[in-house]
Amino acid sequence: MASLPLSLLAFALLANSCGPSGSVGIPASDGESLTRDEWGHRPGPKGFRTVIIDAGHGGQDSGAVSRSTGDREKDLALDTAKRLRSKLSKDFEVIMLREGDRFIDLDERVRLASQRDGAILLSLHYNSTGSGTGSTRGPETYYWRVDSHGLATRIQDNLEATVPSKRGNLGLRRRRLRLTRNPDVPSVLIEFGYLSNAAEAKLCASPTYRERLAQTVADAVKTQARLGDQGTGPRPKPLWQPPSRPTDPPGS
Ligand SMILES: [Zn+2]
Repeated sequence: MASLPLSLLAFALLANSCGPSGSVGIPASDGESLTRDEWGHRPGPKGFRTVIIDAGHGGQDSGAVSRSTGDREKDLALDTAKRLRSKLSKDFEVIMLREGDRFIDLDERVRLASQRDGAILLSLHYNSTGSGTGSTRGPETYYWRVDSHGLATRIQDNLEATVPSKRGNLGLRRRRLRLTRNPDVPSVLIEFGYLSNAAEAKLCASPTYRERLAQTVADAVKTQARLGDQGTGPRPKPLWQPPSRPTDPPGS
């Protein structure tokens, strides 16, 4: 496909727009029409003015709950989201997918985020190991699309420079999740730390620490808006996979 002239490529993509992934043609800023799959395999965004913040979980879905502090992921995520908003709102239009303690389905979050052109999506979470206790700690940042790699790299690098220690965590990970694969905007999912680790849960319980985490992400977003992918290393190759579905096995 890469060796086709652009006009032929556009035609091939249009012709494939009713393909098995259910992609639809999306008008691009350069006047071409690209499928949703192709859309995500562009270079990372530069000069964007809108940041969509998704505080993970909410309502009946508490997310992870720390055994040591009792903190619930949904509350910490919303608190961090508000801190991040206040750090970005001078320079960006900031849209919060939830401002209160309410549940929003993942597919609905995807739909809401996809309504905005020229935006990025940040989904904020706190992590836990399955067993609820453990030594694993440290931040993780997930992305899937090529256009999200630079931003995810900046965020993870900044977080690793900010958190005091990390052990056994996954770092920067390419993973097909509903919030990294499916939205029509560059999308990054951040796990700030493990609530299942007593020491890290104690840190995350501190408003001062969460303020620092929010600042770290805000700095990465501003740098990405200024420089695009510059300095974030080679982009990963496109991976052609269907949209993530609730019935997919975990981590697939
Ligand atoms: Zn979560």
